[in-house]
Amino acid sequence: MNPVYAALGTTIFEHMSGLARQFGAVNLGQGFPDGAEPGDVLEAAARALTEHPNQYPPMAGLPELRAAVAAHYAATQGLDLTADEVIVTSGATEALAAAIFALVTPGDAVAMFQPLYDAYLPLVRRAGGVPRLIGLQPPDWRITAEALAAADGARLIIVNDPLNPTATVMSAEERRLIAEFCARNDAIAICDDVWEQVMFDGRTHHPLMAEPGMRARCVKIGSAGKMFSLTGWKVGWLCAAPALSSVLAKAHQFLTFTTPPNLQRAVAYGLGTDRTRFAAMTASFQRSRDRLASGLSALGYAVLPSQATYFLSIDLAASGIAMPDHAYCDWLVREAGVATIPVSAFYAEAPVTSIVRLCFAKADATLDAALERMQRRP
Ligand code: PMP
Ligand code: GLN
Repeated sequence: MNPVYAALGTTIFEHMSGLARQFGAVNLGQGFPDGAEPGDVLEAAARALTEHPNQYPPMAGLPELRAAVAAHYAATQGLDLTADEVIVTSGATEALAAAIFALVTPGDAVAMFQPLYDAYLPLVRRAGGVPRLIGLQPPDWRITAEALAAADGARLIIVNDPLNPTATVMSAEERRLIAEFCARNDAIAICDDVWEQVMFDGRTHHPLMAEPGMRARCVKIGSAGKMFSLTGWKVGWLCAAPALSSVLAKAHQFLTFTTPPNLQRAVAYGLGTDRTRFAAMTASFQRSRDRLASGLSALGYAVLPSQATYFLSIDLAASGIAMPDHAYCDWLVREAGVATIPVSAFYAEAPVTSIVRLCFAKADATLDAALERMQRRP
């Protein structure tokens, strides 16, 4: 067996959702929204299923979806992508795998920030890459020039902005530092931008691809699951200049080859509708964020700010809980009946162990039930 996988556990998201089912817990662990599914996009998918072909769509995606993604990024992020530079994938997860397998040659150093989304490291290792981990520290989780310099020599850097699990957004200065890093190392950036449409307090996404010199150095990854609150659909995409995207397509063709055509058609429909839907979605999540944050604060938990994503975090030590995150999350799901995610699961080494992530993209009643249960302390 390949030691990369033989040595791995099940992902923390699946693990905690399993415990939530087993103990009948309120599930604020795995990131998926409650009751926010857009009916018109669901209807578009249902119509497409019966009214359009269900055979293999083109390998790089339905032309209408590729064009809709390019148009969406032109309108919302000022990018000048053409439809040919977009490859549709089965979720951002497949996009990450295709990008990493296409771009990493065994022995290449790959820079990544910790905390890191849990798919990155096994994929990089499976591709023969050598991880160069850059640690970020709470409460700000900021990227510094010194920390980046320690990863010089990397051929690739993986950047997640907004960042899951910290719910932080990169500053202009951080984007500039990463662009400089790429230029001095002749490196490519894989930009995991899946949270680009879920940002709060009036923030908008500034893609690394728009930084000077970065247009041809970036692989931008998006996820319709996050844009339309349909995480189970697993429709995502890769965007990159032709020299890169032609090679990305070759990796994609032997991972999944294609993605269900009715879902692609429905996402193309959704991207073509009035963009105020995204503002309405964000406003609703922001209300939920504030409801959970103020409820937790009232119970004496130290809540870290959330600028984006479906998540906020609490700091256990600052909340007077002298327990490592894993042990606390285990206690909380079994004894109090609330599933959460220990942030140390997003580390390969030297973990920060006092931060716990909670998903607030839930109905008010779900959040209130969790708060009620979190009155209990270990
Ligand atoms: N990257 C990050 C940072 C994520 O948070 C997620 C899912 N929450 C993904 C990738 C995977 O996205 P998808 O479900 O589209 O595969
Ligand atoms: N990305 C989601 C999260 O952070 C989970 C995705 C998954 O379960 N694979 O919660």
